[in-house]
Amino acid sequence: MHWGALKARILACGTVRLTGTCRFHPEQSTAGPGAGGSGSIFFTTPHGRIRLAVDEQSSLTLTADADGSARLTGPEIDVCGRIEEAVYHCPRQAYITLSEGCIFSCRYCAVPTLPKRIKTTEEVCAMIAEVADDIDAISLTSGVIGSVEEDEARAITVAHAVAGFGIPVGVSIYPLPGTPQRLKDAGACEVKFNIEAATPALFQNMCPGLDYAGTWAILKESVDIFGRNRVFSNVILGLGETDTEMEACIRRLTDIGVIPVIRPLAPTPSLPGLTRPPAERILRMAVFAKKELTKAELDPTQAKTMCSLCGGCDLVAGRDV
Ligand code: SF4
Repeated sequence: MHWGALKARILACGTVRLTGTCRFHPEQSTAGPGAGGSGSIFFTTPHGRIRLAVDEQSSLTLTADADGSARLTGPEIDVCGRIEEAVYHCPRQAYITLSEGCIFSCRYCAVPTLPKRIKTTEEVCAMIAEVADDIDAISLTSGVIGSVEEDEARAITVAHAVAGFGIPVGVSIYPLPGTPQRLKDAGACEVKFNIEAATPALFQNMCPGLDYAGTWAILKESVDIFGRNRVFSNVILGLGETDTEMEACIRRLTDIGVIPVIRPLAPTPSLPGLTRPPAERILRMAVFAKKELTKAELDPTQAKTMCSLCGGCDLVAGRDV
């Protein structure tokens, strides 16, 4: 089976049961899919990397040996690879959540339920100094604690401080008008502002209080400031949109020079009736995105930071499909 089809099948499950003699620690994240859950692991083959949430009830089993070599098995799945250790949040990156917690309540996101904590600039710099030799990227993200303005100010201060490490810095926060230029001035080389839902109606329903049209405008502004291949946006697949609506959203992003990160929904109890999208749909949308990216002369494999560099949670055009 082609790697993209196999990865789509594994992503459609999204979880794994661990066995074997390997003693490793599942990564506990405070952002992204699975935040606050029982942790996740990164399984890597010569073709690419997959992040899976640890779940004793999973239909997939990962049998890992003491040397990190591992075999992933499940319905029509049997693939050998290895466990890859996360540095902070994911392998080869210091992907750091600045504000743990959020004043908003997006329905698919567990971050607002986590204990609130803000990392200081000194703390973040010390974390990075410890791992600087083992990372290719510094990626900063944040919930929103206090106000959007306060959080942006904290992200800019930290981006400015960590730019001194000489490692590419990417930032993904909830943006305000002018945020792209302020982040660029602080030393960021890439940004990811998430459009989250394929349609305004779904966005309004899922992300009360957030501004859909405003985020689109800021994405466009970001491409002028950061350039092509340097601006990204997550869109969740499985919030109730049709394929046609998702395709229109993907095309709208690539038309303005933004690289879509198409993220399969991780269902939560606050989204009754919504399930993880099936493998065929994950693959179909990735293949569509690849065509649109090629037409727009955009290339996610050029990413220097964040999710398109990691590739654990999604199919990356040009790498996986
Ligand atoms: S793809 Fe993004 S959210 Fe997923 S593990 Fe990698 S960095 Fe984290």
